Amino acid sequence: MTITNSSSVMGDPDTSGRFGQFGGRYVPETLMPACLELEQAFKNAWADPSFVKEFHELLNGYGGRPSPVTECHRLSEQLGVRILLKREDLNHTGSHKINNVMGQTLLAKRMGKTRIVAETGAGQHGVATATAAAFFGQECVVYMGEVDIERQKLNVFRMELLGAEVRPALSGSRTLKDAVNEAMRDWVSTVESTFYCLGSVMGPHPYPWMVREFHRVIGNEANAQCKELLGGDVPDVVVACVGGGSNAAGIFSGFADTDAELVGVEPAGGAAVGSGIPGVVHGSKSYLMQDEAGQVQEAHSVSAGLDYPGVGPEHAHLADIGRARYEAVNDTQVLEAFEMLARTEGIIPALEPAHGLAWIIAAAKELAGKTVLLNMSGRGDKDVAQVQAIKAGDPVALKTMRP
Ligand SMILES: *Cc1c(COP(=O)(O)O)cnc(C)c1O
Repeated sequence: MTITNSSSVMGDPDTSGRFGQFGGRYVPETLMPACLELEQAFKNAWADPSFVKEFHELLNGYGGRPSPVTECHRLSEQLGVRILLKREDLNHTGSHKINNVMGQTLLAKRMGKTRIVAETGAGQHGVATATAAAFFGQECVVYMGEVDIERQKLNVFRMELLGAEVRPALSGSRTLKDAVNEAMRDWVSTVESTFYCLGSVMGPHPYPWMVREFHRVIGNEANAQCKELLGGDVPDVVVACVGGGSNAAGIFSGFADTDAELVGVEPAGGAAVGSGIPGVVHGSKSYLMQDEAGQVQEAHSVSAGLDYPGVGPEHAHLADIGRARYEAVNDTQVLEAFEMLARTEGIIPALEPAHGLAWIIAAAKELAGKTVLLNMSGRGDKDVAQVQAIKAGDPVALKTMRP
């Protein structure tokens, strides 16, 4: 079921696409028609029960939903905090990302677009998009910074296996933000046939809203599952890691109108909400990490998926109104949490959600006796080789740790 209204704390943005003072649509004239067409198409589709039904059937039949909520008995005992995990790691392709890409590629099909472009940083969104495009028989081009292509060869090969073309972004720092620029440039010049599948709750309106709506299923399921488990109650605290903020927005949306506390956890080296200042990047206003001259700073995190200097505008708003708080953890804490979950529960997490657990461990005193729901946004298979190399003292792998 979809809930879209403006009386909810995480309801619809205003007509200009703002959540409070954040969000909006700061794009060149040339991109305006494409954004308006997309906004209209999404509004129509999301109000159409047959689209919503098909979306949920795909998430269930292809994506593996609903994902369970797992109670962590041994870890809870060890920390003195009752910990529940929302298992997005069990979805097809191993993370929450499939929700968003199935939604966007289904919308592309409805709009008659046969070609999908996407940006990717670490490669996870590119792989998910290539997967969905293969499912629908759509042409798929993924832009990836040249530096990231070199760092993430296995994901490049995965995308190619799935029939996608990976194009290097050669400008700027040749990383994620340059890949976004290239994907937008492609979209503007091919908008008749092309749909831009954006990977998080970022970018110009309607993306932050649309991507959150496609991930709302996480929060809606978790709300019902927790109530079942907790005799009608919701958890005291809901925790999620924050890169761009899509998995957090998805799970928060199911609890925003309850009295559960919402906590987003950022990497210390990329704490956009924690240490950023308002600015405009990639078409929307939000917090981002800038130097004194207003230049966007590079983010640093052991987890490539959280290596982004900005954050979705709705998180900036939730922080502003005090509905959610944002905390930061460092890479050493993250690796400890990664190993702790593996040993106590037999679940190897992705390094991204290990940030959420690292905060819970650090805050265990404050959380004593409480029930905490953590969004397990993805599985750790993709990170095992990197962690092994870090533990072995490999100098290249150690460079991925923040000094
Ligand atoms: C991509 C990714 C993230 C970060 O993206 P958000 O938009 O902040 O959710 C977090 N966890 C996993 C497993 C990912 O693949």
